[in-house]
Amino acid sequence: MLKDSYPLYLNNKAYQPNADLEVTDKYSGEVAFRVALADARTINEGIAGAVRAAEPMARMASFERQAVLDHCVNRFRERFDELAYALCVEAGKPIKDAEGEVTRLIDTFRIAAEESTRLYGEVQPLDISPRAMGYQGIWKRVPIGPCSFISPFNFPLNLAAHKIAPAIAVGCPFVMKPASRTPLGAIIMGEILAETDLPEGAFSILPAHRDGADLFTEDDRLKLLSFTGSPDVGWALKARSGRKKVVLELGGNAAVIVDADANLDDALERIVFGAFYQSGQSCIGVQRILIHEQVYDRFRDMLVAKTKSLVAGDPKDRNTFIGPMISEGEAKRLDSWIQQAVAGGATLLCGGRREGAMLEATLLEGVDRAAAAYREEAFGPLALLSKFSDFDAALEEVNDSKFGLQAGIFTRDLFKMFDAWDRLDVGGVVINDVPSYRVDNMPYGGVKDSGLGREGIRFAMEDMTEIRNLVIRRT
Ligand code: NAD
Repeated sequence: MLKDSYPLYLNNKAYQPNADLEVTDKYSGEVAFRVALADARTINEGIAGAVRAAEPMARMASFERQAVLDHCVNRFRERFDELAYALCVEAGKPIKDAEGEVTRLIDTFRIAAEESTRLYGEVQPLDISPRAMGYQGIWKRVPIGPCSFISPFNFPLNLAAHKIAPAIAVGCPFVMKPASRTPLGAIIMGEILAETDLPEGAFSILPAHRDGADLFTEDDRLKLLSFTGSPDVGWALKARSGRKKVVLELGGNAAVIVDADANLDDALERIVFGAFYQSGQSCIGVQRILIHEQVYDRFRDMLVAKTKSLVAGDPKDRNTFIGPMISEGEAKRLDSWIQQAVAGGATLLCGGRREGAMLEATLLEGVDRAAAAYREEAFGPLALLSKFSDFDAALEEVNDSKFGLQAGIFTRDLFKMFDAWDRLDVGGVVINDVPSYRVDNMPYGGVKDSGLGREGIRFAMEDMTEIRNLVIRRT
């Protein structure tokens, strides 16, 4: 189903100067296909194209932008199986999760198609003092101009889509650097966008190594940098991004609270899913599970039994729940954190064995809060159990993190729900589900080390625009 090699997309066209980027099948470790790599000259041409396209794109009518997005939705539906298979190979994503991601990709573009016709402004009365009598204000949103997008490996399609779709919806040209380990999702999007009437230069999809990647951050012709990836890289890029507006969607070590009155059977299904789907490689994967002491022993036993039953293996097999991590290096890193935590007094409840990039779904209890497994982002199949007796203390424990993306609370108590919403220092609180829950139109992003700004189509569209005001004096 996949080809041997793929071009990059430069100024709306396929371009194959080389096939220098080898992309492996993350389960077998074999080279699966090759992709063209952009050098600095190619990236410069892409940025110059985006600058040329800024004005014609800003002039596109909303029904024209909507038609481009609708075309993508239709083509994603037609190429559904191919897209899912591409994710399964390049990211090692179990096929059912890969299909889930393609479904969300379609949602993301569908939402953008709807929102593209709703870029509203406001009529603002200015008569707040005698000085302003007879003045009327009107403001509207205009596209910010050429944008720079950098996306991570773990959702190669949908996280690229969370930048590309709103950019088209508002009329911003862009250059995108997909993750080098998983570039194909974005490349296929480029192939589909190339079928549309977007103005020349409207988009370039440019896999690049680190040196070329600098241009995506530093070139001042680009007006916005939207980065999704790890906190260290994201904050370092922000420091070098010059005058650009910057949106950072970074990592976390998300927590879920299971209160004494929670429906434990329901919480079990959702928490095991939230902790271990995609082998835990989700920025809002459940890493910390805080359980009320009244139900701790029972729920711990339920979690261990369910976790042990997860099927690990080839992501192409429909029964597989746990596939490989993105690389053996990442699996070794997490393996060493597990061993350090155990050496520091934690109890291994299940899992903990590793073979290559395959790491078993692992549960630990009694992990010291200073341990890397607790403090840092695990980004793999590891979750930590802890016991609480007091809901306030549980909220404090959730906040005891340098990260703040989303948190989940299983409770039936309305007051606790609102309390959590008020007091948790995160971008979003999810009641009776895991922090890993996301619908693609909701505002999504983090505080503290987890990022800056929000995605979710409408919110990304706002970031990709400037407000332009008009003042009228009645004479
Ligand atoms: P990463 O930071 O290694 O890479 C992200 C992107 O940045 C890739 O395209 C990579 O090639 C590029 N990159 C890396 N170093 C660069 C540099 N010096 N200059 C320019 N570009 C550079 O992250 P990853 O391993 O691909 O993804 C995992 C991380 O992403 C985790 O921390 C995860 O939590 C985070 N993430 C966050 C969200 C969110 O929405 N908040 C979503 C998914 C993943």
